[in-house]
Amino acid sequence: MNIILAASEIFPFAKTGGLADAAGAMAQVFSRMKGNKVAVFLPKYRNIGGGSFSLKAVPGVFRVMVNDHVETVGLYSFQWGKATVYLVDCPKYFDRAELYRTRSGDYQDNDERFILFSKAVLEGAKFVGFKPDIIHCHDWQTGLIPAYLKTLYSIDAFFARTGSTFTIHNIAYQGCFPKATVFKAGFGWTEYTPDRLEYYGGINFLKAGIQYADAVNTVSPGYVHEILSEPGGRGLSGVLRARGADFIGILNGIDTEVWDPEYDSSLPRGYDDGSFTKGKPLAKTALQEMAGLTLDPNIPLVGVVSRFDPQKGTDLLPPVIAKMAGKAQFALLGLGDHATQEQLTVLAQGNPKKVFYSERYDEGMAHRIYAASDMFLMPSRFEPCGLSQMIAMRYGTLPVACKTGGLADTIAGYPEAEKPTGFFIKKPDAASVQEALSVALGAYSNRKVWTEMVRTAMRTDFSWDRSAEVYSECFRKILRKLA
Ligand code: ADP
Repeated sequence: MNIILAASEIFPFAKTGGLADAAGAMAQVFSRMKGNKVAVFLPKYRNIGGGSFSLKAVPGVFRVMVNDHVETVGLYSFQWGKATVYLVDCPKYFDRAELYRTRSGDYQDNDERFILFSKAVLEGAKFVGFKPDIIHCHDWQTGLIPAYLKTLYSIDAFFARTGSTFTIHNIAYQGCFPKATVFKAGFGWTEYTPDRLEYYGGINFLKAGIQYADAVNTVSPGYVHEILSEPGGRGLSGVLRARGADFIGILNGIDTEVWDPEYDSSLPRGYDDGSFTKGKPLAKTALQEMAGLTLDPNIPLVGVVSRFDPQKGTDLLPPVIAKMAGKAQFALLGLGDHATQEQLTVLAQGNPKKVFYSERYDEGMAHRIYAASDMFLMPSRFEPCGLSQMIAMRYGTLPVACKTGGLADTIAGYPEAEKPTGFFIKKPDAASVQEALSVALGAYSNRKVWTEMVRTAMRTDFSWDRSAEVYSECFRKILRKLA
């Protein structure tokens, strides 16, 4: 099967969050499956992979119409294992410091940027002669691709047997733009009806993906349930319900090679589910040393690696840490909401031996915190799937997280579960976070219970194997319908 995977961020080329991890892992897993050929499309941002990939310019250019102007687009390619990556080069839209926004808000031309990208995926496929059976689209930035296939490209012989799937990684981000964007995108007004592109007088790219794709899924069964009604569906639950059996939940996995404590070069020494009692203390000491925390192997260390955003409940961290910093150490990595950043900076400055806060994006540091911590705090108000809790468990770090979406699907809560792997926070408020942390600290003081939980967490299968098979079946079903 020829598969195009189109996304606005793909690890290790560009990443702001879990979408990149998930799309990157899927591309690799799909490309290794027998009979598959995978082409990955993403924009060529300014700083692809920190400049560490030797990209090859594909000779020639093609043209893409956006609004009332024609843009010249090039492609760069990179052989990534068995997948071929194509970077859509249009400096006017993508040669910028950030992916989607500056500190003061979203880029004003995000509609044009992702109209261009969506059209460039289709034109680019033709340009390099890669005829896809399936185009797998991810989140609102690619929501127009399924719509183009069913409208502007419906009579294009190149795509006569091409189906599309649309994966929703987070329904909170929908790509809503004014009515004028319908014209910029090149759609006819016949498409501008409530059961197609129209959304409260404007256009919604996520809705377009849901409406026009041959199949739609989101990233955990728990999140399916939440977004099929309001308020979880953020205005799109009706549209999703209308898709009936074509809308399903497929749990994300993690890339178990990227996230492998046994061979992780960021750590002083690798460890697995048999040697974590040796490897984790070394990682903890190394982090305590680097962070200037008190060197103590026995004090519980609580880690956080997150975007700071209301979704993640990270605004609840400062009051909880202020109260709990005597009983545990905290190592936090993340940025976003400025108030939380400032409060954590103040807390870390006031308690340098107990609280470490790094206000940046840092892959290596993330690895070190996942490995060194005993607990991983994730008080999310909602969580479509969540990768951090799975990464933490793979590193033998037990999540303390709200029971929502994919968190509820992937964590077995202590003490109710027969084989617990983490702790649930009853609701996203500071008192409940503190209560759950206290339960976790209680369990931590019982070595036998804790060691068993860590072992169970590390042995849980978070690989992509099962989910990749479910995606493949979904693709095959679409192809049978198109045949
Ligand atoms: P989301 O996609 O909603 O941000 P996920 O849990 O699905 O949340 O995925 C988050 C990913 O981003 C994880 O790989 C996590 O380690 C990473 N991450 C988040 N913040 C940072 C940061 N400041 N530095 C490095 N990695 C980060």
